[in-house]
Amino acid sequence: MKTLLFILLMLNMLDAKDYSHLPELKLNELSQTETRVIVNKGTERPFSGKYNKNTASGVYTCKRCDAPLYKSDAKFKSSCGWPSFDDEIKGAVKRVPDADGRRVEIVCARCDAHLGHVFKGEGYTPKNIRHCVNSISLNFEKENASSIKKAYFAGGCFWGVEYHFEKLDGVKSVDSGYMGGHIKNPTYRQVTRKKTGHLEVVEVVYNSNKVSYESLVKLFFEIHDPTQKNGQGPDIGSQYLSAIFTSNKKEKEIIYKLVGILNQKGLDIATKIHPLVPFYKAEDYHQDYYANKGKKPYCHSYKKLF
Ligand SMILES: [Zn+2]
Repeated sequence: MKTLLFILLMLNMLDAKDYSHLPELKLNELSQTETRVIVNKGTERPFSGKYNKNTASGVYTCKRCDAPLYKSDAKFKSSCGWPSFDDEIKGAVKRVPDADGRRVEIVCARCDAHLGHVFKGEGYTPKNIRHCVNSISLNFEKENASSIKKAYFAGGCFWGVEYHFEKLDGVKSVDSGYMGGHIKNPTYRQVTRKKTGHLEVVEVVYNSNKVSYESLVKLFFEIHDPTQKNGQGPDIGSQYLSAIFTSNKKEKEIIYKLVGILNQKGLDIATKIHPLVPFYKAEDYHQDYYANKGKKPYCHSYKKLF
């Protein structure tokens, strides 16, 4: 019986997602209480966790590495005092024998954060499985009901990036602007002098029912050279670096996946991933620059990569 259990555990481990192609994993800092559970495999007090009674729609992610672990559809009421799920997001959770020799521990497949334990045969739901997870090991991302979303890309001179995104079906509008610096409302002159730390960025407003975030990121990689480390084309300088500002973990996952594909094609991607910060729209004469001039970009052309 023990051997069978071991084999089943091994099979489950093989099924775990392969994250080896990803850029170096940045782990979130943990508080002392979080460390006690996530690193030292402790257990939070029953009925004390933030998500025990949460019934909102969304995705539960790993507190330490942001990997999506459970969807809210898999959550059920178990009255055990901890969030209970009868299924994980495929490959996101790894099962390992618990140190107590009896139970099966569950950890994040990407960063090994301790989540809790998994039990079988209790009859709570038709799947007959209960992932008993500490709330403190999780974050929760509520589903955004609106299909109109925004995405932010820095790929060199914003005129050219804006030009290409405006041609994509499902994109409602694109604005050129600045992000990532340390002053509010920077001017083009200030950004050009490279003293504010801003990047030239475009804000893409899109209908996610018509075009996916993944399609936007693919286009982004295909209209600039994401391997250039000092700027873009002839535009050299910190304001022209390649970067994506992300609003949530799902976006980050998509970028990681696509960067992985490009790495496998031998491309050393210089694109940085940043959390969302305020976007400052650039001066009017930078908006729709090529459309207004009736010209084509000097620095951005489409090259199929995916
Ligand atoms: Zn994790």
